[in-house]
Amino acid sequence: MERVNVLIAGGGVIGTTLAHELAKRGVNDIHVIDLDLGGLYASSELNAGGARATWWQPINIETCRITLDFFRAHRELFGFRETGYLWLYADPDRFAVACEKRTLQEAAGITVELLRRDEITRRFPILDRNLEELVGATWSPRDGLVNPNAVRAYHRREAEKLGVRFSDRHFIDGVETARIDGRSGLRRVRGVDVIEVAGGDPTDTSGILREILTTHRVPTGRRARETRISCDVVVNCLGAWSSIFSSKIGLRDVTEAVRRQIALVDVRPADLVPGVDLDRLGMIVDSSDLYFHPEAGHFLAGYSIPDEVPGFDFSYDGNAYFEEFVWPRLAHRCSSFERCGHLRGWSGLYAVTPDRSGIAGPVPGIANLLEAHSLTGRGVMQSFGIATVLAERITTGHYGACDLGPLGRERFESPDRWLPEVLHI
Ligand SMILES: Cc1cc2nc3c(=O)[nH]c(=O)nc-3n(C[C@H](O)[C@H](O)[C@H](O)COP(=O)(O)OP(=O)(O)OC[C@H]3O[C@@H](n4cnc5c(N)ncnc54)[C@H](O)[C@@H]3O)c2cc1C
Repeated sequence: MERVNVLIAGGGVIGTTLAHELAKRGVNDIHVIDLDLGGLYASSELNAGGARATWWQPINIETCRITLDFFRAHRELFGFRETGYLWLYADPDRFAVACEKRTLQEAAGITVELLRRDEITRRFPILDRNLEELVGATWSPRDGLVNPNAVRAYHRREAEKLGVRFSDRHFIDGVETARIDGRSGLRRVRGVDVIEVAGGDPTDTSGILREILTTHRVPTGRRARETRISCDVVVNCLGAWSSIFSSKIGLRDVTEAVRRQIALVDVRPADLVPGVDLDRLGMIVDSSDLYFHPEAGHFLAGYSIPDEVPGFDFSYDGNAYFEEFVWPRLAHRCSSFERCGHLRGWSGLYAVTPDRSGIAGPVPGIANLLEAHSLTGRGVMQSFGIATVLAERITTGHYGACDLGPLGRERFESPDRWLPEVLHI
């Protein structure tokens, strides 16, 4: 039977960044397991590439701020474009709260300007229709767009250089736990000897996760092979699939997988209103909740259909989605999109919690299990912040740059500990 120090379940942007951060801190024998490292269904490969720190909860602001600093420091490598986020408001109450939250964001060092209607038109000539219905906008010039695939590829490459093993086509289909008496059953992680209490409440070590069972899918025509991996520390980074893993050890998760679609839109250069510089245009979030930004010579536009039924649905509704939800909103705000074309699109999963904030930290009751998942539409922009702080927690027993405590799953036991995020798209 294989034995590892740290087993990371899921090789999306979160699991991969965490593996790299742990390896940088000297942890050896790290194994990342994924059903499909190509990421055909992984949210990390299917997202919109937006990166901002303008959230409403301090922990989300902070983890995104750390990530954005990291993206800026490697802007060439990650294709990071500091083209800003413009958020349009038509509802005076919502705008009033946005103004209020700006104080919190600025206190965290994030620049957010408030724009009046005339300023919006002057700075963003692409927005030339129905502006009278807007009450204002927020503009955060240091936010931007990133290439999430490049981010994940970078961390995998660097992690592999440090000896991290990535196993593709390994489907985690079982978890074996044991009950232990006191802390005597906990082994130390080789290579990092400060990790005696690997996770959970140090006084509650009633459960320990002992083995992960995987089915290794081998090429067609050969039978799948079963593997058992014994592990000291396990981290659940399974994104929208995290709750399936949790249920195997008797934990009930609040996360739901919800489909989100994105359309690629074509605008003929001749149809663009004069004065629009596509290289400098960043993410625009319309008051109708549609978002769009230039992408590789086209526009990427997304709209989250309200009341989407939760489930593992990867279908793309094609022209019907474009015609009903995307085009009317684009054309309502910008004459440039009046005659735009629908090229194609895709869908991926948001892992959604009731308060729209993610879940990260030790899992109470299972001494050697931690988790980082359910990051809704924020996983890429939060990836480095969450991974670096969690790696610190795993190797030292303490959080470093910021305290992930508020993101613990325990908060769902009492609604007054929830971390509601409103500006999710
Ligand atoms: C349409 C869309 C737009 C988005 N836009 C943005 C955006 O602009 N900015 C932003 O920051 N975020 C955005 N997000 C969210 C972001 O993509 C996710 O939060 C992030 O990618 C989550 O990363 P992850 O590593 O947690 O999960 P994933 O990338 O989903 O990785 C989970 C991995 O687990 C593996 N897996 C699952 N079950 C098993 C199993 N049983 N055994 C083995 N492996 C398994 C999967 O193969 C997958 O590789 C968007 C998401 C979508 C869908």
